[in-house]
Amino acid sequence: MGNLMRYRLERVGAMPAALESGVLYVSDEYETAAHLCACGCGSKVRTPLGPTEWMVDDDDEAGPSLHPSVGNWQRPCRSHYVIAGGEVHWSNAWTDQQVEAGRHGEQHRRDAYYFALNRSRFGRIFDWFRRIFRR
Ligand SMILES: [Zn+2]
Repeated sequence: MGNLMRYRLERVGAMPAALESGVLYVSDEYETAAHLCACGCGSKVRTPLGPTEWMVDDDDEAGPSLHPSVGNWQRPCRSHYVIAGGEVHWSNAWTDQQVEAGRHGEQHRRDAYYFALNRSRFGRIFDWFRRIFRR
């Protein structure tokens, strides 16, 4: 186990059944990315892609980046790392408390996103009402 892993990006339609280490698979069709855990334990890590999920930046020269960090707290290795420019940057293993906080963070991000969506929708209706009543 160590810091040896680098990732390259591979675009696929459906995810292959067997993943190769050091490859970050991205399926636009299924809006998901998958890779084998950077510690070398062989765990498959699936990360859904979307505005409230993970995002992949594809840089041809440096290599792919995956945001936010990957926390494999359900696996025995509890690896926690960021893939940036094709390189693995390790963070400390998560304690149970951090896992809990991370989950809250995720929920919060999602709430904030949908709140902003709703607000802009209501905002538009509100403007429409204002225009009618001004006449
Ligand atoms: Zn692992």
